[in-house]
Amino acid sequence: MKMELFTVDDLPLIKEGDNIAAMICERTQLESHDVVVIASTIVAKSEAAMVLKDTITPSERAVAMAKKCGTDPALVQVVLDNSVEQLVEFPVLLVENLNGHVSINAGIDDSNVDDKYFLEMPHDPDGSAKAIGMHVAELCGKDVSVIITDTNGRSFKIGQTGVAVGVYGVHPIKNWRGEKDLFGKVLEITEEAVADEVASAANLLMGEAAGGTPVVIVRGFDLYSSDDVSVKEMYRREGEDIIRKGLKCLRHS
Ligand code: GDP
Ligand code: MN
Ligand code: MN
Repeated sequence: MKMELFTVDDLPLIKEGDNIAAMICERTQLESHDVVVIASTIVAKSEAAMVLKDTITPSERAVAMAKKCGTDPALVQVVLDNSVEQLVEFPVLLVENLNGHVSINAGIDDSNVDDKYFLEMPHDPDGSAKAIGMHVAELCGKDVSVIITDTNGRSFKIGQTGVAVGVYGVHPIKNWRGEKDLFGKVLEITEEAVADEVASAANLLMGEAAGGTPVVIVRGFDLYSSDDVSVKEMYRREGEDIIRKGLKCLRHS
């Protein structure tokens, strides 16, 4: 087996209104069922999902939380505005964002963006992935999968990896249940987070600094589905999430 990953080169700094699908198609000969992996940073920039730092008035709560964590009250305010629940408030701010994704600081970024702004996560990442995927199909006549990514930390381990935050044309989870192992035993629980795995692999080529490579094409690993898909397929439902339950107990103890 063999798969291939390569960057889309010579992309400029992305501005509000930029057409990411067109920019990719102009620079790459896409093939059917390629996976187009795109850093959320540039999707957010193209959608102007950002807040001018000057316009933020931190609430009393934001000021108190920022003081405790030693962070910027304005950043904490944007994180609160972009979250539906705060799972951990100290020593880091771990929240569920407006789209259901749990991460530190709601994925609000201060890097790779003009210093006057905080960059938010795309507000509807599945919708953004779909719009880009459909536009690619229109422009170059190829059905592709699209995965929008961010770099996130992990519980229990040091080191960040790429994760999927929005998808189109690919189910984020591959279900192995019902398949047989080498000894004929039927698998009962194995589900594989394929979108996160692809995001992580692509993140190797994206890098985190000034590389300027926010788009990676994955070729030779067909994950394409014409179903109506959503990144939310991999978010645990509230009652089934023991970590969330544990954190809630800690908050109320
Ligand atoms: P995130 O993981 O989505 O938060 O994005 P990062 O800030 O880690 O950036 C991922 C990659 O995209 C790095 O190679 C950056 O240099 C690159 N990048 C970020 N913004 C832009 C941009 O506007 N234009 C280009 N060409 N590259 C960018
Ligand atoms: Mn980020
Ligand atoms: Mn990154």
